[in-house]
Amino acid sequence: MSGVVLSGTGGVWRVQRDEGDIVDASLRGRVKKSNAGRRADGSLRRDTIATAADTLKLAIGDRVMLEQDGSGAAWTISSILPRRSRLARRAPGGGFGERVVAANVDQVVIVFAAANPEPHPRMLDRFLVIAEANGLAARIVINKVELAGGAAVASERWSDYERAGYPIHYTSAKRDEGLDTLHDALVGKVSVLTGPSGVGKSSLMNSMFPGLDLRVGEISESVNKGRHTTVGGYLHPLPGPEGGYLADTPGLREVGMWALDPAELDRCFPEFRPFLADCRFGDCTHRVEPECAVRDALARGEISAARYDSYLRLREELEGG
Ligand code: GDP
Ligand code: ZN
Repeated sequence: MSGVVLSGTGGVWRVQRDEGDIVDASLRGRVKKSNAGRRADGSLRRDTIATAADTLKLAIGDRVMLEQDGSGAAWTISSILPRRSRLARRAPGGGFGERVVAANVDQVVIVFAAANPEPHPRMLDRFLVIAEANGLAARIVINKVELAGGAAVASERWSDYERAGYPIHYTSAKRDEGLDTLHDALVGKVSVLTGPSGVGKSSLMNSMFPGLDLRVGEISESVNKGRHTTVGGYLHPLPGPEGGYLADTPGLREVGMWALDPAELDRCFPEFRPFLADCRFGDCTHRVEPECAVRDALARGEISAARYDSYLRLREELEGG
């Protein structure tokens, strides 16, 4: 028997079984063994470190094998199935490596408003870099387009991203515009939903998926307040025959804290990639080096000044931290 992890409270995990019902399951014995593996001073014994790390890595979206105890009352998670992808944040400065925010993710869906609140392209660039660094597809949604001259005007403003190859949806939850294509892009997939609060994430999702009853802000807030001890956000099953899930992961919003090797940043800008092999120096930072193919492309207008500027700022930030 198998299922998908919807949320976790540290010891108990909410799992949707393949049959559709949702059960609470605990990780089997070896979780608790990580305690037994501590020395008297509380430090971990070497032979149990791997087990402790494995345990911490269980995340929403994980596919797990389930077992029922003899009485049939309690469920245990007996194993975690291999992941096809994951969204993870690397602990700055190493430590126990990365923390997986969501497993088996198909795409990151980043929502901004055309206005009210004003969009921040630089914040969008951060989200995109996180998706790229995790090898995940990204999809951009610009909502509330009716407040800023409609979809045509918005598409002008966000053309840098279209040129970089990102799919963009121009929507108005209020006027029911652009929702059909966005709906089709979400069904049957596991999508991590992110973006600043107030841009209309809940409004969009609830009108596309009646019955979902998503309250993105509220869920995140209750997590912060510790009312739920949900460590890794929540995976919402999408109602409807095609299935799919939406992951609400509060952790993704603390974007400034993500650790990435500065030398990997250029590859996280897809429109830079065709030029990277043509820089004279293999470790070109694309700042001051001679014969830099990225800056040549910038001068020709093939890379946008705003995106290049974002690259410079993010690079500086990564090198400083
Ligand atoms: P979230 O925090 O991203 O989940 O945003 P909400 O869905 O709670 O929406 C924030 C506010 O924006 C609410 O007052 C919504 O009614 C409003 N809103 C959502 N979508 C639209 C839209 O397309 N146009 C306009 N004008 N307002 C919207
Ligand atoms: Zn270069």
